[in-house]
Amino acid sequence: MKIIGVLALQGAVREHVQMLDALGCQTVLVKHKEQLVGLDGLVLPGGESTTMRKLLYRYDLLEPIRTLAQQGLPMFGTCAGLILLAKELVDHEPHLAVMDVVVARNSYGRQVDSFEVELDVPAIGEAISAVFIRAPHIVSVGEGVEVLAVHEGKIVLARDRHLLGCSFHPELTTDSRILEYFVTSMV
Ligand code: GLN
Repeated sequence: MKIIGVLALQGAVREHVQMLDALGCQTVLVKHKEQLVGLDGLVLPGGESTTMRKLLYRYDLLEPIRTLAQQGLPMFGTCAGLILLAKELVDHEPHLAVMDVVVARNSYGRQVDSFEVELDVPAIGEAISAVFIRAPHIVSVGEGVEVLAVHEGKIVLARDRHLLGCSFHPELTTDSRILEYFVTSMV
């Protein structure tokens, strides 16, 4: 059975755990660095990236997670989790700085700060439900990074080797195909 950690400092943690359970994974809530030992993969949920960054420092998790990402541990960042993974942010210092993408925060303006769409993701499936909440988007990707989904001209899902990042919250729907792609194709 695959053991997947879910960073549990803040944000949409429970929904990821429920979906991972339903996919047959064993889940570990990660609040301390000892809980990173023995994982097959790690999910970085959405929430508020500046708060999550502070908590990553406070709990001494930033460096250990960065090291694991550099060593090849599969990681999936959703929304704020994508912001944490990005090597570069448009108007901020990066956080973990491991995934070769440039990310802009809050890309959809205030009027439409949350919405749900159905996305076609050729590598995964058609009409995949995606919930965007004050979502970031990927402005550009480095060489070798696969763009997996684009919504209205903006990159919203990409894979850099063992790192997957998306702008939206797949765990807030009943459609588990993106999380399933992570745990079956990447972990
Ligand atoms: N706007 C948030 C941030 O900058 C991300 C929102 C989310 O994770 N739903 O961190």
